[in-house]
Amino acid sequence: VRRNPSGKYFVSILVETEVQQLEKTASSIGIDLGIVDFAILSDGRKIDNNKFTSQMEKKLKREQRKLSKRALLAKNKGIHLFEARNYQKQKRKVARLHEKVMNQRDDFLNKLTTELIKNHDMICIEDLNVKGMLRNHKLAKRISDVSWSSFVTKLKYKADWYGKLLVEIDTWFPSSQLCSTCSHNDGKKSLDIRKWVCSNCQTPHDRDINASLNILSEGLRLHSLA
Ligand SMILES: [Zn+2]
Repeated sequence: VRRNPSGKYFVSILVETEVQQLEKTASSIGIDLGIVDFAILSDGRKIDNNKFTSQMEKKLKREQRKLSKRALLAKNKGIHLFEARNYQKQKRKVARLHEKVMNQRDDFLNKLTTELIKNHDMICIEDLNVKGMLRNHKLAKRISDVSWSSFVTKLKYKADWYGKLLVEIDTWFPSSQLCSTCSHNDGKKSLDIRKWVCSNCQTPHDRDINASLNILSEGLRLHSLA
């Protein structure tokens, strides 16, 4: 039994169960994880980075600032935080909001991963070096916001449960440099280049959709070798 910071109680019960595998669909999909969009799929869909959650996060930050102000106020008055009623009230408010943000994010990730696992037998994704990316400060904030690692974890265990396959592509595979039409390597593209035209076959590309198509074909290639 545990009680979380917002004051709710939870009881955990361990059970043994058999998970029924999902029906095979004979479909494969490539996924490119993005910053502007959360995920870009090789079927051309772009999954929005859940705007609602980021609005909630702004609200949470506001309330957190209020909490620090109240802590300071209590300290200046010489009141211990345990006895500072306004501080305690605000602390519970922040905990409730925090819980809501987490639940929304989790719900979003669960719905998306279940849909992908249900509709495809093979899911190809880049093996993200999230740790390395977090060292890049400009990217760090956005990456921790979009919860890529939680997304990949969910895909992994759901693939395992439901008899589907998750193929991870090497971080160094140049998914954004290759032309998905003719395989020509068009060279490095900085993050601000969202659209480009292949210098070999003149196919116009959306950066992220092209990358997700490359991830899919690389996944299919790796799988055929295995
Ligand atoms: Zn080309």
